Amino acid sequence: MVETLIQGGTVVTPTDTIEADVAIDGERIVAVGDSESMPEPARTIDATGSLVMPGVIDPHVHIDDMFSFDTYETATKAAALGGTTTYIDFAWQAWVGEMTDWEEPGTILEGIERKRAKAEDAVVDYGLHGAITRQDPAVFEELEAVVDAGVPSIKLFTAYEFGLENGFMDRVFDALADLDAFAVLHTEDATICDERTERFQAEGKGDPEWYPKSRPDYAEAIAADAAARMAMEAGCRYYGIHTSCRQSAEVLADYREEYGPEMLRAETCTHYTTLDDSIFEELGNLPMIAPPIRKPDDIEAMFEHLEAGTLDVVSTDHCGYTKESKQVDNWWDSKFGANALQTNLPVFHDEAVNRRGFSYPFLVRALSYNPARIFGLPGKGTLDPGTDADIVIFDPDETYTITAEDNASVADFSIYEGREVTGRVTQTFVRGELVADDGEIVAENGHGQFVERESTDWAF
Ligand SMILES: [Zn+2]
Repeated sequence: MVETLIQGGTVVTPTDTIEADVAIDGERIVAVGDSESMPEPARTIDATGSLVMPGVIDPHVHIDDMFSFDTYETATKAAALGGTTTYIDFAWQAWVGEMTDWEEPGTILEGIERKRAKAEDAVVDYGLHGAITRQDPAVFEELEAVVDAGVPSIKLFTAYEFGLENGFMDRVFDALADLDAFAVLHTEDATICDERTERFQAEGKGDPEWYPKSRPDYAEAIAADAAARMAMEAGCRYYGIHTSCRQSAEVLADYREEYGPEMLRAETCTHYTTLDDSIFEELGNLPMIAPPIRKPDDIEAMFEHLEAGTLDVVSTDHCGYTKESKQVDNWWDSKFGANALQTNLPVFHDEAVNRRGFSYPFLVRALSYNPARIFGLPGKGTLDPGTDADIVIFDPDETYTITAEDNASVADFSIYEGREVTGRVTQTFVRGELVADDGEIVAENGHGQFVERESTDWAF
């Protein structure tokens, strides 16, 4: 006897699709196979005509801090409704600057405690990356404890008031290599972006169409080249976040060819695979994200590099902001970021599978399997017996129109507003518990747990 049997669906693995039932007992998947071989269940879920996939693992979100108005409750509910069963947020090393309210600098370990204290209402699971925001050597004293706290990935920025210079980053790569931890890189050359921004401000170029020109593709590629080169020299594993353009994807492809996927992995985000810079005319500052949404050819490059394997993962870079915080007169006064936790799977499925003919296993690799392997979540990312019953049931044939009116996030807009997509999340399970059912949250707040991650190798 098991608790739940998901019957009659098409199970999607990282390599295949099979007609099979999935048995869940407690928090785990206990069997996958044909119905005759299944144990007797207490309840059955009819998945006829639907895909049964591992829940989406989103390794790049911003929740409940200076880069998002979402709380863990609103964000994890958006995640559950969108088929995401685990996300990885950021534990910030506190810094003093224009972008934060901190009055004194702090540690990454304090950042981990701060985020975990905010997460008691979560309904899906979450992990954390550490983020180094200051060139303070004291950070090297705590890195081992950060890794031991289940946080083996450390984010570094090359831009903004918390960007690091090459010299300090070089030292961080050495330290992470010693700990067998890895670096997560936001790469945009700060001097290029700052210079162009100041020039546009002086020239009064505040219309949103100017925004992408302030952070050009080559600025991303230059910074990626420098950071990846230093990481490879140090023997430090490198994960490039939000790759947005052909130029930086080509840089990463070169290093990956030379050093192998054991050393270098990368992601793009849904919006870089689906939107081009004509969106600024349409939606003003709402789609302002860094790096910016690029040209149509960059969208093609994202798919070429997803197919070639340079890009392993598609994330959201979710930031929950309101229209009011975005639609200001000049783009430089707007918040950077957009929400997508609730729309990621349906939008990317529609673009990749329906419009471009990619397979369901490809979808599972980019959204679940690869992020689980890269970020050290061996119990997640597949439907293998023994792993967590984090499952999304997805009807690939249902068509609906995306609107922010459905948002569980505090964000009152969507950069996909009005987009008709075919494919809808019908049910989401997190560790065996049904959390979202036909557009409603049905789990109690607090079901979501902190996931201590391991530093696992990238030989897969
Ligand atoms: Zn981000």
